[in-house]
Amino acid sequence: MTSPVPPFEPGGLFVNDRQRGPLLERLSQELSLARQRKESLALLKFNLVRFRQINADFGHAVGDRVLAEVYQRIAKALRETDVLYHLGNDEYAVILTRLRIPQAPELAIRKILHGIGENIEIDQQVLSVSATAGAAVFPEHASDRDSLLKAVDAALLIARERQTSYTLYDAGTRSEDIRQAELKGSLRSALDGGELMLHYQPQLNLQQGVLCGCEALARWKHAEMGWVSPELFVGVAERAGMIDSLTYWSINVALREWFQFCIASESASVSVNLSAQLLHSPELVPMVEHAVNIWGAKPGSLVLEVTESAMMINPQTALRTLHQLHEMGITLSIDDFGTGYSSLTYLKKLPVSELKIDKSFIFHMAEQQQDRRIVQSVIDLAHTLDMVVVAEGIENEQILNMLVAMGCDYGQGFYIARPMPAADLRPWAQSSPWRMPKEVMSGLLSNA
Ligand code: C2E
Ligand code: MG
Ligand code: MG
Repeated sequence: MTSPVPPFEPGGLFVNDRQRGPLLERLSQELSLARQRKESLALLKFNLVRFRQINADFGHAVGDRVLAEVYQRIAKALRETDVLYHLGNDEYAVILTRLRIPQAPELAIRKILHGIGENIEIDQQVLSVSATAGAAVFPEHASDRDSLLKAVDAALLIARERQTSYTLYDAGTRSEDIRQAELKGSLRSALDGGELMLHYQPQLNLQQGVLCGCEALARWKHAEMGWVSPELFVGVAERAGMIDSLTYWSINVALREWFQFCIASESASVSVNLSAQLLHSPELVPMVEHAVNIWGAKPGSLVLEVTESAMMINPQTALRTLHQLHEMGITLSIDDFGTGYSSLTYLKKLPVSELKIDKSFIFHMAEQQQDRRIVQSVIDLAHTLDMVVVAEGIENEQILNMLVAMGCDYGQGFYIARPMPAADLRPWAQSSPWRMPKEVMSGLLSNA
């Protein structure tokens, strides 16, 4: 290996910048050659697994020697026509030119990974290193330089996500995986960097026409993808082990913003959704206790919503957690009621004081007698069990009036108000036809 492999330089940000330029330039040249010759080429990227740990355990000098050794081992596995770059930190890129057989990228990756995986001896210490790789092929996966770079990054991301040693790009079947993997990467920075926010959907005491609380709903505006649905990113947070942080953040923000709006009102509560996974986490109870103490909230004014299906995953643990929260004075609510399979025996044991009827039963109540009957049965069931009942998804006046007549206690829906940022609550309350509790009124007057 002579000309294709530039001399190794230890990792660091500047190397990153210096080496990416030459890679881009060389990739453009190789692509135009491949186009002229009607040949294929592959771009491979390699990342060392837990390289930070090597730096932390053995120091940066050893870390740099490992990087240099890996570079030599990759170089050794290549042909003269291939090109290798160290992109900085623990990242390497390889251009495999003049591919003869479709299996060539995979064979090369295996050979390289095998080489990297052999023990490295530095100062009588034996280190074991492994790498993750992604590959994309021109023209099969991408027809120009930028899409080839994107494809290889996506393949590498998927390999890391699936914890496999390498992945070849596959546009059709993997686009959802790529999205998920990308979301996972950016959700962490979104949590730290303020891209996440809560929107609040007001809830009314239907029998009195008075605002009684709101549901806090997480929102994420991704810098490139725009609004990401909460169902999608909550799932991502669960799989990425970030659901604890997301929920802790939600409860704290909800308590702060909502009570700023209604001045620690005793008659208005804020509801936060709990992911199924958290019911089985030992972190949940101390986390809630901490948040309630920080904001000096009356525990009863925080409502935690849990879906029926979440409780049914492991009913015994769920029951224990719910009892602990109940003993702290937290109000518990069953969300999307009617869509799960909780038995009446189980329901009777739950320390829950609120049932939220799923919006799918509310949407068509006006036309569908069966939905009306189900809603009436849930209202009666809740009252029999000394629970209150909330209807979600009230989209028009007719449905609101029906629910009032049927004895439903509380309600929320687009007809009353759509979820809105905390800053919009005050203007909404000032112009709303619904009555506000006296604490909210005095807050509105004193801030006028
Ligand atoms: P959910 O808890 O059942 O929340 C109610 C959903 O119904 C919200 O959707 C709300 O915007 C929507 N909605 C309310 N009124 C109406 C209406 O009149 N018509 C229609 N069509 N929709 C209405 P959103 O905000 O998209 O949230 C979807 C789900 O994502 C939530 O369902 C909840 O399960 C989950 N979610 C949202 N925020 C969080 C969070 O902070 N943590 C967790 N774990 N889950 C969350
Ligand atoms: Mg909810
Ligand atoms: Mg719901």
